[in-house]
Amino acid sequence: MRECPELVQETVARGHEIGNHTELHPNLLWLNPTKVRVELRLCHGAIRSTIGTPPKWFRPPFGMRNPWVIPAARELGYRTVMWTLIPGDWQEKPVEWLIPRMQSIA
Ligand SMILES: [Zn+2]
Repeated sequence: MRECPELVQETVARGHEIGNHTELHPNLLWLNPTKVRVELRLCHGAIRSTIGTPPKWFRPPFGMRNPWVIPAARELGYRTVMWTLIPGDWQEKPVEWLIPRMQSIA
């Protein structure tokens, strides 16, 4: 986001939602309340300064959380979400491989 803010802005302009997924993508299960807040707030600030509005949604990396994660997200006004399916789209696969995996939510 910091390296390519115009890409993020174009993504928003095309109607996509930008959410908080933490600053460094740690497993939040192992972080204390202060470190959880720092992870959320750094990402929050980056998104806000890039797109001009604060994000509304938060998804914890790996879906992992401890008792401090959701309250820290609420402090920033977030609703926490998980996922409907895991398509594996972070892997370098052809579009013919990805599209059938996304059909159930398309
Ligand atoms: Zn992730």
